[in-house]
Amino acid sequence: MKRYHFQRLSETNSPIVRELNEAASRVIASGRYLLGEETDRFERLLADSLQMDHAVGTANGLEAIRLIFRALIEDGRISPGDKVLVPANTFIASMLPITQLGLKPQPVDPDPGTMSVNMSAFAKAADRSTKAVLAVHLYGFPAYDHEGYELLRQRGMIIVEDNAQAIGAEIFDQSHGNWRPTGSLGDASAISFYPAKNIGALGDAGAALCADSRLAGIIRELANYGGSRKYHYDYLGYNSRIDEIQAAMLCVKIPHTKEERDRREATALAYDRGITNPLITKPPRDSKFRQAWHQYVVRTDRRDEFSEYLAANGVETMIHYPVPPHRQRCYAGILTGNYPVADRLASEVLSLPIANTSADEANEISQIINRFK
Ligand SMILES: *Cc1c(COP(=O)(O)O)cnc(C)c1O
Repeated sequence: MKRYHFQRLSETNSPIVRELNEAASRVIASGRYLLGEETDRFERLLADSLQMDHAVGTANGLEAIRLIFRALIEDGRISPGDKVLVPANTFIASMLPITQLGLKPQPVDPDPGTMSVNMSAFAKAADRSTKAVLAVHLYGFPAYDHEGYELLRQRGMIIVEDNAQAIGAEIFDQSHGNWRPTGSLGDASAISFYPAKNIGALGDAGAALCADSRLAGIIRELANYGGSRKYHYDYLGYNSRIDEIQAAMLCVKIPHTKEERDRREATALAYDRGITNPLITKPPRDSKFRQAWHQYVVRTDRRDEFSEYLAANGVETMIHYPVPPHRQRCYAGILTGNYPVADRLASEVLSLPIANTSADEANEISQIINRFK
């Protein structure tokens, strides 16, 4: 029986292994392992590719979110106790730093069709104590709509994007008539280069991006113990820097962003055309988006049975995510609302292989799926 792996990182990196080795050797020989040329080059490359003026390399994606919100606090634009809207079905790392900074994460139940919370849904959920929204482009599907964006702007809401799953995704900007990358849509955006993301480092790495140079300056200081000059500190900071070696790995990989998105799109399209089983709901598509397809997420109310059937037929799958944040022990007594759509999605979603899966293999997997009764 043929086996369809969910993801193998060695396979992801094997086509560029020579470039990665050369870049690693260069860093090792340089004797400079933090805050050097590779980080500068990485930050410029990322800022250009995501069309934001400033990018600051960080230790990981969670730290990028933490640094953005902490910098907004230091800049006086938001205060502990203020509400930040977040999707109820997001990965826990979206919410943890918000909670830890004394801000109040307020989950918003996702739309059952798109499994996401767009700008209009945030605008609808916002009240007078809401200061910011964290738009999460979950699974690589942009959490964006123009009308909602305009509404949030009119109300002076801070818009931060969690772009961890969506590098390469784009939205069609109606007012300018062009395509724009996710990560450039709000005041600031966080990205993760966790190895299994669409563009992954060879360890932990991330970045915080923003349009405003003052905010970028605060983020940069905060990530480096809270100071820009050695042994002089303006803020009670963190150590959240990116390593030179990871920055060098990412300088090799970031130029492949669009190619990776298009490859995933071809696989997603093969699934879209191949899966005809009425028991299985396919993921959303929107002609105003170029999706990044971090995950290809199908749904069925017989999810556990379906995943066992696929496993028995050689297809590895994963669940993103089996337990939403408001059901986690760490959030008991903190997130007390009801989020029925997030609960239902947690019991229905199943991610099919896409990271190392060709369109032909997606066709073969679709045939297996169509035989599920
Ligand atoms: C991966 C991820 C993060 C956290 O990034 P790390 O680099 O793992 O810290 C945050 N939000 C979302 C939606 C993610 O998928």
